[in-house]
Amino acid sequence: MTRKLRAMKNVYVSTLLILLMNMITTTNGLAKDIFATYPHDVKMKDELFYSSGVCAFRLWAPTAEAAELRLYDHDAQAGGEKARVIAMKRGVKGVWGIDVKEDLKGKYYTFRIKTDGRWLAETAGIRAKAVGINGKRAAVIDLNDSDPVGWAEDRSPALKSFTDIVIYEMHHRDFSVNEHSGIENKGKYLALTEKGTKNEAGASTGLDHLRELGVTHLHLLPSYDYGSIDESQLHEKRYNWGYDPTNYNVPEGSYSTEPGNPLSRIREFKQMVQSIHQNGMRVILDVVYNHTQTIDGSAFTLTVPGYFYRQWPDGRYSNASGCGNETASERAMVRQFIVESVKYWVNEYHVDGFRFDLMGIHDVETMKEVRKALDEIDPMLFVYGEGWTAGDSPLPEKLRAVKKNGLQLRRIAVFSDDLRDAVKGSWNDAKKGGFVCGVGGLEESVKFGIVGATQHSGVNYTRVNYSKAPYANHPGEVINYVSCHDDLCLNDKLQLASNANTTEEEIIRMNKLAQTMVFVSQGVPFIYAGEELFRTKRGIHNTFASPDSINQIEWNNKSRYAGLYDYYKKLIALRKAHPAFRMSRTEDVQKHLRFLEIHKPCVVGFALSNHANGDEWKEIVVIFNGNKEEKEIEIPQGEWQIAAADGEINAAGMGTLKGGKVKVKAISALIVFRK
Ligand code: CA
Repeated sequence: MTRKLRAMKNVYVSTLLILLMNMITTTNGLAKDIFATYPHDVKMKDELFYSSGVCAFRLWAPTAEAAELRLYDHDAQAGGEKARVIAMKRGVKGVWGIDVKEDLKGKYYTFRIKTDGRWLAETAGIRAKAVGINGKRAAVIDLNDSDPVGWAEDRSPALKSFTDIVIYEMHHRDFSVNEHSGIENKGKYLALTEKGTKNEAGASTGLDHLRELGVTHLHLLPSYDYGSIDESQLHEKRYNWGYDPTNYNVPEGSYSTEPGNPLSRIREFKQMVQSIHQNGMRVILDVVYNHTQTIDGSAFTLTVPGYFYRQWPDGRYSNASGCGNETASERAMVRQFIVESVKYWVNEYHVDGFRFDLMGIHDVETMKEVRKALDEIDPMLFVYGEGWTAGDSPLPEKLRAVKKNGLQLRRIAVFSDDLRDAVKGSWNDAKKGGFVCGVGGLEESVKFGIVGATQHSGVNYTRVNYSKAPYANHPGEVINYVSCHDDLCLNDKLQLASNANTTEEEIIRMNKLAQTMVFVSQGVPFIYAGEELFRTKRGIHNTFASPDSINQIEWNNKSRYAGLYDYYKKLIALRKAHPAFRMSRTEDVQKHLRFLEIHKPCVVGFALSNHANGDEWKEIVVIFNGNKEEKEIEIPQGEWQIAAADGEINAAGMGTLKGGKVKVKAISALIVFRK
């Protein structure tokens, strides 16, 4: 006991010394890590090892003066229950432990640590795998009890190359709450298990719709346990995107049918994954390891105060997330937490990939460790993220997992805001349109997108909007898109960036052209749920907490805008049928893709030659015309078959045209081919 206390005292003395040194010593603006002396070379996989004979609890809390396990018969919701308190024993390297030789299944627990002579608030721990309502108390369960029938046989559909992926980004409530969705489990995980659902006109909705549309990966907005929705008041039908993590390793409760039953969210999440797999699609989780909902009340702070967050040299918490704090992935135990967490979601929940929110807050090294750990499980697990931060960080830019350092992020993709904003216009200036709105000067940015942000002699990188160099080693390392949950959705953006007298028909033409530019470019295409159904969010820029009436997908639109939907379906089918549009190697893009010499504002064209990537089409010519008038363009001589023209598309062919000077209709793509 005495020896332990002295050891702790030494930690404090040296921490204090380092703190003082930090006042004067910084490297590249990043203070020397004041936590460097912490014992963080310890493997922490779980905080509860369950068996019916013994429940072993372990907690890494090196600065704690005391730690206790608090057991309850009921969830916090019940209130008034006195905890059965069991003191934990300090082991090596800051790990506290206690083995309770009882079957605690069905009980709840929390931890509490004492630091600086004061007991902190209770926490469910940072690695809780089951929780009660609002994630206040962790629950003791046997994870085997949460497996749906046939779970052991669950397999992800085959995937050969990342460039074969078509991502559909969706939020659980948006997807099913609409009164015409025909879906019973509105706003729930189980919505994605319902088949045969239809809108009022009898067109398929939900899962059947996705299958029909042809997307390969469902990217789910945050589905870990987050804090902004009170799970005990679901009748209020409140809405939130969920970028406020509380328990990283547990599904969110409000999407389950019974948040008060710790098994419900886990079992239903698995049922959802199983159903998506059975319907030929894979599942991607949006993960937000870069910040927590609060600092003071987070499990991180209540377990190891300070350690999990970055600070400026003066001790203030930094805020690169714009949400009040940022985590410190460069610290060994934070990095390990992230790596173990993604592994857990793959192994326990069978998810197939991760979208890292504000990935630029994490250091490159952590992202490499994530990739390596996932590769050991299955190299086709897909990882991508936002290659930027939302504010300044003490982590020097050269260490951040940002677009600029993209070439170091092998087999990790970043979003191309370069292509996005070139096509539809500025993300933060609603009135400023892009290529499809007839705005010239963005042609090189469009070309940058066409080659998937890789190196290509046909692109003048000095004239690209945001990036002056390639950031993808291969096309599978870039996400091409024109809209996502952030900012205005596509139609709202196009509407606001256009003149008041722009017709709906013109907006539809712009919408089609924009997505065509995404889907025939090299890279990994991504669409925001509902864009194929002419989605609108009533011009609201940030709908993170807007009501269902704004965020819901209007399923009757599928029949109302049948032509637009049909175009999306055929566009996806074109890409899937033609490997020329989804080359996986930069060498192949360099060899087979060349840009046409056009030199007209708002027109870009390219040719794919010699059966690119094994395509049955020998030659393909693609021209995008963002102008409000038809343009005459020169293409190679001879007879061509038409795959897309004048706002129509069909990979099976739509007649022929003669090469030489051809007319490309206003706001449209022309795609021609010969075998
Ligand atoms: Ca929650």
